Amino acid sequence: MSDQIYDVVVVGGSWAGLAAAMQLGRARRRVLVVDGGRPRNRFAHSSHGFLGQDGRSPAEILDTFRAQVLAYPTVGFRAGEATTAHASGDGAFVVALSSGDPVQARRLILATGVVDELPGIPGLAERWGRTVLHCPYCHGYEVADGRLGVLATSEAAVHHALLLPDWSDRVTLFTNGSFVPDAEQRAALAARGVQVETRVVAALVGDAPGLTGVRLQDGEIVAVDALFTATRTRMASGLAEALGCALHEGRLGPIVRTDARKETSVPGVFCAGDAAREPHGATWAVADGATAGVAAHQSLALAAARAPIGSR
Ligand SMILES: Cc1cc2nc3c(=O)[nH]c(=O)nc-3n(C[C@H](O)[C@H](O)[C@H](O)COP(=O)(O)OP(=O)(O)OC[C@H]3O[C@@H](n4cnc5c(N)ncnc54)[C@H](O)[C@@H]3O)c2cc1C
Repeated sequence: MSDQIYDVVVVGGSWAGLAAAMQLGRARRRVLVVDGGRPRNRFAHSSHGFLGQDGRSPAEILDTFRAQVLAYPTVGFRAGEATTAHASGDGAFVVALSSGDPVQARRLILATGVVDELPGIPGLAERWGRTVLHCPYCHGYEVADGRLGVLATSEAAVHHALLLPDWSDRVTLFTNGSFVPDAEQRAALAARGVQVETRVVAALVGDAPGLTGVRLQDGEIVAVDALFTATRTRMASGLAEALGCALHEGRLGPIVRTDARKETSVPGVFCAGDAAREPHGATWAVADGATAGVAAHQSLALAAARAPIGSR
């Protein structure tokens, strides 16, 4: 391990991690960003809703972010995985890297994101991010006025289905055996013009990644151009757990618990982006990253102010 100690190691160099590193680079702190190169929205051709970048591909946007952040001379970048991390006992942290020797840092920012666990329906995975979509705010505009479906994974799909008529008046909710809508839910869905299909879904059909329909178990095909579904999510990295950070159960999956400054239950470890919040989205991830970057900087600066003269 090198003797050199970084002020901050940021694990995850996507929306949240690069936003954190930007603040720290501008504060002239020594920062290393470690990134595995697997942002959650890499399956989509274009990203939407992020001001100034609307409609560009996720990869192009991250290239722009990375170039701007790495222009700050105190920010370094390492491609590869942070495989584990632990507190070193002197208030610092040691991070093991797949790309070489471990590195040390006074503060850690985890911006490692989440992984979507896709429903195991034949034909769904190859359409993910293209015609099978997670969020109408991100991709609804592009499929507006088409035949839209909502594939339920739980009762929460009713909420999803009640929103979608703002994008199309042809919406079908496929309950797929995940719940039985009650009378109140059926009335609300009918009031919004949403059809309810309770038969079990067998497969998605069409020339993938295109979609023309949802095949039901009895063989009937319901014509659909785009299908929305809420996935379960899991942590993309085990680092938060390895460090002892507290997690709690969110609506979609586990989330790292943080305070308003994005500091976790482990002092000196911050967490930003999808791994530490709901709802998810690039704009929120960037906002959280900036918050964590500023908070990590301030914790370093104020700790130095409290340290006895001579030990700084
Ligand atoms: C298909 C799809 C399309 C989407 N489209 C949009 C959209 O149009 N607009 C929008 O606002 N939101 C969209 N989202 C949501 C958006 O992708 C997320 O909110 C956003 O990516 C979260 O940013 P993040 O930085 O927290 O995590 P991510 O972007 O997921 O990045 C996490 C990074 O950390 C790295 N990493 C993880 N573990 C390690 C480790 N141990 N060591 C090193 N690196 C590690 C990963 O490789 C990855 O690069 C979409 C999501 C999906 C699934």
